[in-house]
Amino acid sequence: MFCEVHEASGTGSAALSGEAAQNHIMMTEYDTGLTGTVFDIQRFSVHDGPGIRTVVFIKGCSLRCIWCSNPESIKRRPQIGIYPDRCIGTGKCGECLEAVPAADLLIVKERKVVGLNTDRPEVCLPCAAVCPTGALKVWGEKTTVGEVMTEVLSDRQFYEESGGGLTLSGGESLIQARFAVELLKAAHVEGLNTCVETALNYDAEVLDKALPYMDLAYCDLKHMDSGAHKRFTGVANERILENLKKIVDSGTRVVIRIPVVPGHNGTEENLRATAKFLVDDIGGNVVQIQLLPFRKLGVEKYAALGMPYPMKDFEAPPRDVWERDIRQFAAMMSAYGLNAVAGSGARIPK
Ligand code: SF4
Ligand code: SF4
Repeated sequence: MFCEVHEASGTGSAALSGEAAQNHIMMTEYDTGLTGTVFDIQRFSVHDGPGIRTVVFIKGCSLRCIWCSNPESIKRRPQIGIYPDRCIGTGKCGECLEAVPAADLLIVKERKVVGLNTDRPEVCLPCAAVCPTGALKVWGEKTTVGEVMTEVLSDRQFYEESGGGLTLSGGESLIQARFAVELLKAAHVEGLNTCVETALNYDAEVLDKALPYMDLAYCDLKHMDSGAHKRFTGVANERILENLKKIVDSGTRVVIRIPVVPGHNGTEENLRATAKFLVDDIGGNVVQIQLLPFRKLGVEKYAALGMPYPMKDFEAPPRDVWERDIRQFAAMMSAYGLNAVAGSGARIPK
């Protein structure tokens, strides 16, 4: 399919002729009908790349970080979260019972909807769609490249004024590789800056396809010890480190993001090993290293999805302690000649 979005923006090829028109058509070609699953689109973000940005959250992740605060991002398919406290009761409301395709799919206790009786929650999407209180919440929606780009391009003037553009996040932003690459390509066709937030756990071929359309990559590094990486995230780190090298070697600008989790990866030993790797193995060629504090977020979402919260026994240190620790870790990594900062708010160097 051709770029309906671009043509709708009033810069279509009608005003061009001959070779220029042909080149324009080739340039504006991207597959608007390609589908993927997205669980959120946030406009006016200022922390996920330069300028004002629209962040598209792609559903699905191949890691299982025990500190993940976005459990709704992990499965690729749409899911329904259940918040029984928000249900006003099947006696007063009952909208979901009328929409449900089979009577026994919803679990009702004391006149409140408390669960789903299926491992295919997508069959209950009609119930969630009619719930007036948010007691049934849908995460994830099948959409197309064209639909996403229509929303993204509605803020074109803000990108042009601020140097912003499109950021893909997740989950893992490249897990639906064809869909993600097509979005990046569409953004470039439309003249937008692109950023990708990635945990880097995929085959190198995915990067081969995405790199031509990637202006800035935010790359997670979770742990330098592969055994510990596997323990905390479910996967080893060798492929992740190889992919990081590949991105850096391509000349794409890279920001490293490290979630600093006390007692897990937030140790001097791990962060020194990370600094040494970045200097020795990739020549320090990253524009910034962001050390991000861990907070116990997402507990309610785990419960809504019927998932156990892996960090339930974790005792977070007081705020002044973790703030001090992160500042000290940033200073320690900076001593290796790296641009390490506490948090995600610092300006990214040009
Ligand atoms: S539609 Fe929502 S609020 Fe109404 S009964 Fe169902 S779960 Fe409860
Ligand atoms: S990589 Fe991110 S989204 Fe995936 S499990 Fe880890 S924290 Fe969650």
